[in-house]
Amino acid sequence: MDNIIYLPREKVFRDPIHNYIHIEHKVILDLINTKEFQRLRRIKQLGTSSFTFHGAEHTRFTHSIGVYEITRQICDNFKRNYPSHSKEDGLWNDEERIVALCAALLHDVGHGPYSHTFEHIFDTDHEQWTQEIITNEKTEINAVLRKVASNFPERVASVIKKTYPNPQVVQIISSQLDADRMDYLLRDAYNTGTNYGMFDLTRVLRVMRPYKEGIAFETDGMHAVEDYILARFQMYQQIYFHPVSRGMEVILTNLLQRAKTLYENGDMEGFDMPSLLVPFFEKNVSVNDYLRLDDGVLNTYFNLWIDHPDKILKDLTRRFLNRHPFKSIQFTDSTKYLIPNMKDLVEKCGFDKQYYTAINNSSDLPYDAYNEPKTPIEIIQEDGTLNELSTLSYLVASISDKISKDERLFFPKQMLTKTRNSIFDSYYDEFQSHINNNQLI
Ligand code: ZN
Repeated sequence: MDNIIYLPREKVFRDPIHNYIHIEHKVILDLINTKEFQRLRRIKQLGTSSFTFHGAEHTRFTHSIGVYEITRQICDNFKRNYPSHSKEDGLWNDEERIVALCAALLHDVGHGPYSHTFEHIFDTDHEQWTQEIITNEKTEINAVLRKVASNFPERVASVIKKTYPNPQVVQIISSQLDADRMDYLLRDAYNTGTNYGMFDLTRVLRVMRPYKEGIAFETDGMHAVEDYILARFQMYQQIYFHPVSRGMEVILTNLLQRAKTLYENGDMEGFDMPSLLVPFFEKNVSVNDYLRLDDGVLNTYFNLWIDHPDKILKDLTRRFLNRHPFKSIQFTDSTKYLIPNMKDLVEKCGFDKQYYTAINNSSDLPYDAYNEPKTPIEIIQEDGTLNELSTLSYLVASISDKISKDERLFFPKQMLTKTRNSIFDSYYDEFQSHINNNQLI
């Protein structure tokens, strides 16, 4: 039996998206106060997107609390309107609330600084780290969860891993219309100062309901769900895949790659030695090593490397700190053949092509009806019949299998400017002719 303690008085946190965030369980407040959760205050939610949308300084901390709040509202709605009376009726058993709330709050606790870039270079996986931080007995989070029940950390981790036996709980936290996505779309739209991510959260929550195999949405809420799918589609197009943010992301990737290579060659020493990154260079990372990192740690090393004797590291760091993104052109299968030559031209102009060019893809399905392991969005009729969303919505059907793919070659801005240096300019002309003749944009 779980040991669930209520706070003597409800606690509230003020939030720009959800107004008050309500906390009634001691375990939730204790989790927020752990050092591992507080670390999320020091990791920006959108990484390099803030170089394009300067308002996007919000952190994984605020997002995680928001996902908790949406989950709490879902549980409240289910408890009021769909309470289970027997094991087999497929309705909501409110004893699941506490595991759902803890998983919601902790779902991103394993994110590192500049997540995706960092994961790419150091081959780490934030979902696995989330599970490790929850189940490792050395963490404060684990100690707080164990007070609920000895196997409670494993239960919370299994929701993240999607092996938890009740699919309703798993789908609230992770599916194509889950508390995580609902919070980040609204929060990222708000903080970037754009309107694309807006949708009617109150309405979506109202039409959400549990059934035996998971979560479904009532027929008369279909338009609210459509609106959410479009909001998501547009946020990816306009914000998450923005070429300038990606131009900063590739600089960050190449700069970390350069630092790693210098370390491996024994060229990092003294003041420049990034001791907190050494476990990552050595591929021998403990949970404690992992938790030492945040955006501030990386930015501090970057500030030191701006004086590094290695010209490439020094220059890439300068470009990153002072926001000088690489420029880019989009290419397709039919223009792909130009890329090796364009990279060579960058090199001929004096830039090491390994560090001064990059290919970066963005692809995302706005809504995926069929591919496993994604859970389709089900619309439930009054008689209980389920229909997958795109079979009912023309709007969703028209975008559901369209991969919005944007493949780009990144290179220094200097490649687009004439210098009156004759050697450089002859390569410049050739580079430019590739762009113009092929209408690369
Ligand atoms: Zn999240």
